[in-house]
Amino acid sequence: MHRVEHWLARAATERPHHTAIVCGAQRLDYAGLHAQAEALAAGLVHLGIEHGERVLVLAENRIETCVAVFGSLRAGAVFSLLNPGTKAAKLGWLLRDSGARVLVIQRSLLPVLRGVEGGLPELHHVLVIDEGQGFESADLPAPAQAWQALLDAGAPALAPASRGVDLDLAMLVYTSGSTGAPKGVMMHHANVRFAADSICTYLEVGPDEVVLCVLPLAFDYGLYQLLMAVRCGYTLVLERGFGFPMQVLPLLEREQVTGFPLVPTVAAVLLQLRSFRPEWARSVRFLTNTAAALPPAHIERLQALFPQARLFSMYGQTESKRCTWLPPAELARRPGSVGFAIPGTEAWVADADGRPLPPGEVGQLVVRGGHVMQGYWNQPEATARALKPGLWPWERVLHTGDLFRADEDGFLYFVGRRDDILKSRGEKVAPKEVEAVLHALPGVREAVVVGVPDPVLGQAIRALVVLAEGSTLGSRDILAHCRAHLEDFMVPREIEFRSDLPRTGTGKIQRARLQAEAEGRMFVDD
Ligand code: ASP
Repeated sequence: MHRVEHWLARAATERPHHTAIVCGAQRLDYAGLHAQAEALAAGLVHLGIEHGERVLVLAENRIETCVAVFGSLRAGAVFSLLNPGTKAAKLGWLLRDSGARVLVIQRSLLPVLRGVEGGLPELHHVLVIDEGQGFESADLPAPAQAWQALLDAGAPALAPASRGVDLDLAMLVYTSGSTGAPKGVMMHHANVRFAADSICTYLEVGPDEVVLCVLPLAFDYGLYQLLMAVRCGYTLVLERGFGFPMQVLPLLEREQVTGFPLVPTVAAVLLQLRSFRPEWARSVRFLTNTAAALPPAHIERLQALFPQARLFSMYGQTESKRCTWLPPAELARRPGSVGFAIPGTEAWVADADGRPLPPGEVGQLVVRGGHVMQGYWNQPEATARALKPGLWPWERVLHTGDLFRADEDGFLYFVGRRDDILKSRGEKVAPKEVEAVLHALPGVREAVVVGVPDPVLGQAIRALVVLAEGSTLGSRDILAHCRAHLEDFMVPREIEFRSDLPRTGTGKIQRARLQAEAEGRMFVDD
């Protein structure tokens, strides 16, 4: 079971009629999921996709997105799932950066592709998930075909042996970088296998779990819900999101869900509901939380809502998928801790040279193990900053850029980030990316983006804007512009107009001062 697509082949052989995915009104068993992935793989090879080429997927959480993951891998290709809220300029950037050969796209998102400016010479083919509705192929940057038509075309089946080994790149997971340009985290098959196994070990999941996923598959926390389900052969109940909790929550009871992965924003919505019914919670044996810390008050209330469930507090980064977990039995004693390294790995609080610091001291978290990424696609300098030489000549350890401290027993506590990245709704927001969009709006002279502490969002995005002389822009105009060019979670919640911004002696804007102000803490200049 070395490569990720082998997991699906095994599940289809061992439990063909076990439900693999429930998505809305659709249910697919393992034999069905496997058959679709095989048909897609055959179709991709028929289209000429070569070993190692990239397939990008711009679609919501849906069955085709899952099929695209396994079908691409089976064809020997590399997949990358993009946030369905991606706008045209960024999509163009991602297509060029990845050099994708094939784009799988949901019909309703075709206008985004049409909005991409400039050529896409490497894009060879567009596969449209059109749900039998047809689509207009004029103005698309490459020849297009309906997804279902490709699957039904009956391309010659692939030979049983896989194309490639476990050291091949499996996926690129794009994540926001502090310089503003996204970074494609490279994970090979062995990385994915290692991370999935380690996580399945401490969660103690078995083949009869039913996991409800409301997180985007484009986020690795969502993606691994799919990967781990297939690895263990259990059922994934896949929802588009958590925007309509009263429609989603009855699924807990209907599908007898045993596991429910959360981020703090989902937990906050859950805790605000007045009409949560106890029968929804009865089958749930475990809850997980990552991406940002749960407020201790929410931990207690979640436990009261789901009395049968163990709650796992965890911490991770896309660069190594997951770093730490707290055994649920420790939660009452150390509600603020994210525990220790996941099984088979090491994590320590380090000084500037990467050496362990004593308990209580704050330093950067450093991580080693088979889950550490292979680097950032096309970005050797950023890779060299994150991956440093390790104990062995071949080893590289991950410098997370996040500040932690350990208690006397070695349990880890998140203290803060070292770079400018903000986290809102559990998603990374690069202030530079938002500022670039603000600066592109005529009438904006200068803009700085900061994070304001918020109990539900983690950090709420605030834009400090200085207008050009004579500009009559109002908050509404600026927000409308942001909505048109940024994914939802990056759109500022508030715009604050300023007449100028504080600067350093060399004329640079004092971002750190503005961030400290937003958090209501004192700024110490260093
Ligand atoms: N990759 C992380 C995890 O699943 C989430 C994050 O990047 O914040 O733990």
